[in-house]
Amino acid sequence: MTDWSTYIRDIPDYPKPGIVFKDITPLLADRTAFARAIEELADGLDFDKVAGIEARGFILAAPVAYRYGAGFVPLRKKGKLPFTTIERSYDLEYGTAAMEVHADAFAPGERVLIVDDVLATGGTASAAVELVRQAGAEVVSVSFLLELSHLSGRDRLAGVDVRTLVTM
Ligand code: 5GP
Repeated sequence: MTDWSTYIRDIPDYPKPGIVFKDITPLLADRTAFARAIEELADGLDFDKVAGIEARGFILAAPVAYRYGAGFVPLRKKGKLPFTTIERSYDLEYGTAAMEVHADAFAPGERVLIVDDVLATGGTASAAVELVRQAGAEVVSVSFLLELSHLSGRDRLAGVDVRTLVTM
């Protein structure tokens, strides 16, 4: 059993004074922890595609897709995707933003696993769920390395299967 918390460090006052940022780069840099995290993010799930949330979600979602023989789809910040897109606005911990996906990213009813690094307030992930559904696919699960439980992000994902490797 992996103690994931030993691979996640606190960065005080980042990106703003008063915020303690959880830095996952030590986990990514450790070959054993990284491989185990990729395995556990999707272990036992049945899906056709993995949708990664920009930007740290990409680092995890692409190897999950490769490991489990699924396709990868990027969910990107507004203005970054070249083809026709579907868009969803959402609230961040530090402001508002919009997320986009290519309109033809999913075949109707495809089973999608959404992956990101951290579940904080849940605003980003709930927008991702709505966006994938809007694009005609089914959300099987949303997987994170880390859940910051005091921010109650799970409440915004009611009715969705949520998997997290570590809760702090
Ligand atoms: P939420 O929308 O749940 O409030 O914030 C989650 C999003 O913000 C994720 O995409 C995540 O990458 C980023 N995020 C928020 N707080 C942290 C943090 O402490 N550490 C990391 N690595 N990402 C964070």
